[in-house]
Amino acid sequence: METDNFAYLLPFIMLAFGCSFMIIGRWRAQPALSWGWAFLLVSLAFATPIIFSRLPFPYQAAISNVLFLAGFYFYGEALLRRFEAKRYGALRAGFAVAVFAAISYAIFVEHSLRAELLLSDIACILLLAFPLVVSAPKARLMIDKALLVVIGLIVLETLTRLAIFLITDATDSFEDFLASDYAFLMQVTASVLGLVLGLTALAGVALDVILYYRDAAEKDPLTSLLNRRGFERVIANLDADWRQSGAAIICDIDHFKRINDTYGHATGDRVIAGLAELLSRHLPAGVSIARFGGEEFVVLLPEHSLAEAGALANLLRLNLAARDWSDLGFHRQITASFGVAAVARGDHSPHDAIARADKQLYAAKVNGRNTVMVEGASPAEAPALHIVPQARKSGEGAAK
Ligand code: GH3
Ligand code: MG
Ligand code: MG
Repeated sequence: METDNFAYLLPFIMLAFGCSFMIIGRWRAQPALSWGWAFLLVSLAFATPIIFSRLPFPYQAAISNVLFLAGFYFYGEALLRRFEAKRYGALRAGFAVAVFAAISYAIFVEHSLRAELLLSDIACILLLAFPLVVSAPKARLMIDKALLVVIGLIVLETLTRLAIFLITDATDSFEDFLASDYAFLMQVTASVLGLVLGLTALAGVALDVILYYRDAAEKDPLTSLLNRRGFERVIANLDADWRQSGAAIICDIDHFKRINDTYGHATGDRVIAGLAELLSRHLPAGVSIARFGGEEFVVLLPEHSLAEAGALANLLRLNLAARDWSDLGFHRQITASFGVAAVARGDHSPHDAIARADKQLYAAKVNGRNTVMVEGASPAEAPALHIVPQARKSGEGAAK
């Protein structure tokens, strides 16, 4: 009686997961489609005795085996896709086909239920264990590790069942098999592990979709740098250390309207992307770079002194001025102005430093552009900035 209940319950659990994954798969979550196929095929495999009840047992067995093998192929596929690992599709499919040929031989020629179950268990173990081993080194998130643990448990459970099956004197009668503790145990563990696997995979896929859209919402599509929203999240996640040391650079391309007017908006866009690429290339890891609209960029440098930030800004300024734009079809020099400020003791947020850097940027524009202006750079600091002081009215800390 309990066995019958499980026989009905399992296909529905699997079917529900299969349908859910297929629906999610439409939202750019590739592994979801593979999970969907896996659960749908395994659902059909468990439902074979119900759907094909009129067929002779050997045919039911063959159908359920082919569905299980295909389902487990797709579990592996989903895992490998999730971890962006090499998929070895032909190898895994070839293995599944070869096993199915051997199982068919066991069913139709040898009439050996024992050989059939043995082969299908070993095949399912390998179809899961191989992707598990290939994917394991790529697990980063907590959910990745949870998923691998669940798959590992399924492999272990199948191995244990296989061992029990091998040491007990299993019968070759299908009716006896259905009534056996082995079949009952198989249904119970398959239900529990299937449910846990489905929920874990669903959580993983949902998280992927959320992270994908969060990433899209927080990045500027033209430059792939953070946009203002992404920058705000970076600031919100900063720990208290930023109060001790840190600096902000803000930069704006000089006379950018002229570039748009002369070469067109599309070329202007490519200049913006070019500057973004230059910023990413020359700034050290750990800094946050954001495009604050238009051709204005903000860089937050935690654990950098004012002098270090000033030197970096000057490096950026020089590299931009020296950049050859012939790849965009013109030879004109493009420059930018930079304002630099340090995080101060009384600051409530990095925005205070950014606001002071913005004032310096304004001063750099007033001072003739293609200039780095550093907030309150004392004469003692000036040499460390590698900035050649300019003979200007407010030339302290200015570079050109
Ligand atoms: P300044 O040296 O004083 O900065 O002069 P500017 O001409 O660069 O002046 P400003 O920074 O105010 O000009 C920004 C211009 O950038 C105005 C706008 O037409 C253009 N712009 C804003 N966003 C985009 C964009 O996404 N792509 C392109 N191509 N142009 C943009
Ligand atoms: Mg500008
Ligand atoms: Mg601007």
